[in-house]
Amino acid sequence: MYIVSKCLLGYNCKYSGGDNRDEKVVCFCDNHSFVAVCPEVLGGLQSPRAPAEIIGDKVIDKEGKDVTDAYRTGAEIALNIVIKESKESGDEIEGAILKSNSPSCGVGTIYDGTFSHVRINGDGCFAKLLRPFNIEMKTEEDL
Ligand code: SF4
Repeated sequence: MYIVSKCLLGYNCKYSGGDNRDEKVVCFCDNHSFVAVCPEVLGGLQSPRAPAEIIGDKVIDKEGKDVTDAYRTGAEIALNIVIKESKESGDEIEGAILKSNSPSCGVGTIYDGTFSHVRINGDGCFAKLLRPFNIEMKTEEDL
């Protein structure tokens, strides 16, 4: 079973109110079992919402609001959903395909906190929680 960022499958959960549908990811999910989650919506955030980026150990939105709690809570809820689904189905988690650069789903690179599309090394809040499980994590850019 693969963990997939919900926006990559066409759900309108992105901060802008739209999606990040990616045909390669959709095609991959047609042929593999998966569980799709959006940590930010699970954390209680609305879509649309202000974009946010990680600054140090905080997540701050473009209006300057500290949204760290919502991002961390959402990541934990998403992880619990994935673990529960895996246990109930008996389907082991094989990997994750997550949205690149997102403050929740980004794998290995995230934006630098200046809202200027500059990327730095780092994981989003959800990807960070998944690291200790040693599953293969990719983004849609790696497919
Ligand atoms: S939190 Fe992840 S799944 Fe949700 S919109 Fe952002 S990148 Fe997509």
